[in-house]
Amino acid sequence: MAYDRSNVFARILRGEVPCKRVFEDEYALAFHDINPLAPVHVLVVPKGEYVSMDDFSAAAPPEAVAGFFRAVGETARRLDVAESGYRMLANTGAHGNQEVPHFHVHIFAGAPLGPMLKKVATR
Ligand code: AMP
Repeated sequence: MAYDRSNVFARILRGEVPCKRVFEDEYALAFHDINPLAPVHVLVVPKGEYVSMDDFSAAAPPEAVAGFFRAVGETARRLDVAESGYRMLANTGAHGNQEVPHFHVHIFAGAPLGPMLKKVATR
């Protein structure tokens, strides 16, 4: 899938759409999710143009991958949830229910989050 520069996270990165910023460096931007599903719900997006985890893991240079995942950890520390714990999630593609086609990691925290998923049919 080709990268679509009109997606909302691309527009946030260009400053065309506002966000509640938590952390930013040369590799990533972290901001609060507009529709929080936990007491703390923050998104971390890489600055490069990557559609998904699949695209990012295959195409991003090593320094971008390392920089991005360091930014996820730093964001959790800035949110003061590293010690109490958090869940990170990257919805990927259709079965992953990815809605915004710019790779992003969700950080959920601020309360016990319970088990990971409801069981779905196995194959
Ligand atoms: P996903 O299903 O992983 O693609 O999730 C996309 C997430 O982006 C959802 O949790 C939305 O609430 C969130 N979102 C969409 N638009 C915005 C926005 N303008 N600012 C912050 N979060 C957004």
